[in-house]
Amino acid sequence: MTQIAVEEDVRSLVETLNYRDKVERALALIESAYKEFGDGLVVANSLGKDSVAVWHLAKRVSPDIRGFIVTTRFKPPETKKFMADQVARYPELRVFSNDGPIPDRLYETQPDRCCDILKVEPTRRAVREMNVSCWVTGLRCTEGRTRVDFREVEQRDVGLVKLNPVLIWYEREIWQYLALYEVPVNPLYKLGYRSLGCAPCTKISTGPDERAGRWIGTSKCGGECGIHTRPLKLTDGAGI
Ligand code: SF4
Repeated sequence: MTQIAVEEDVRSLVETLNYRDKVERALALIESAYKEFGDGLVVANSLGKDSVAVWHLAKRVSPDIRGFIVTTRFKPPETKKFMADQVARYPELRVFSNDGPIPDRLYETQPDRCCDILKVEPTRRAVREMNVSCWVTGLRCTEGRTRVDFREVEQRDVGLVKLNPVLIWYEREIWQYLALYEVPVNPLYKLGYRSLGCAPCTKISTGPDERAGRWIGTSKCGGECGIHTRPLKLTDGAGI
């Protein structure tokens, strides 16, 4: 892991590497991490286009690689159906959610709190219950304003490495990969969505910022749910 040039200028890699270079680099990153972390390497599969590309890449490295999905009561029916199809096809994908009571319309009044309860808490539980030492994400630095400062390999929490193997891919290169390997995607993309989340917080958007349709009308607009910004490995395992 450490031999890979993780400190290279991310922007320059985005612009100078071609599609094939990026695929090979992503595979090398996953392979190197899998050698180091073994079964502790787990893919966080959000069921979005970037995640399913990463899941496909990981499966090329080893069919034994496990994954988890964090879902919420507010996911659109299309996403729930796509999730059921993916889990039926890959039983090594575990599903986590927090189905406890929350105030009505919390996503409108306190979206950060809503995401903490429904997304961050189950992600922490997934990390803990699956003994994750390296989680692999579909995060890309060209997705929007909140994603420009990430690195391919990060360590935000003690004992938990984060690997972002498609960090330097353009949106077009993700679609190129998915098309070339005929990877099934969430049917919501056919309607024009570019970034998928919970139904009340996701709109179809246009323009350069892929995530501009997320949390429109709130302070979180175009922002983050928290799994990429909040601690995930708590020493006391106490949840949020
Ligand atoms: S995306 Fe919206 S509905 Fe989903 S957890 Fe976050 S605030 Fe709640």
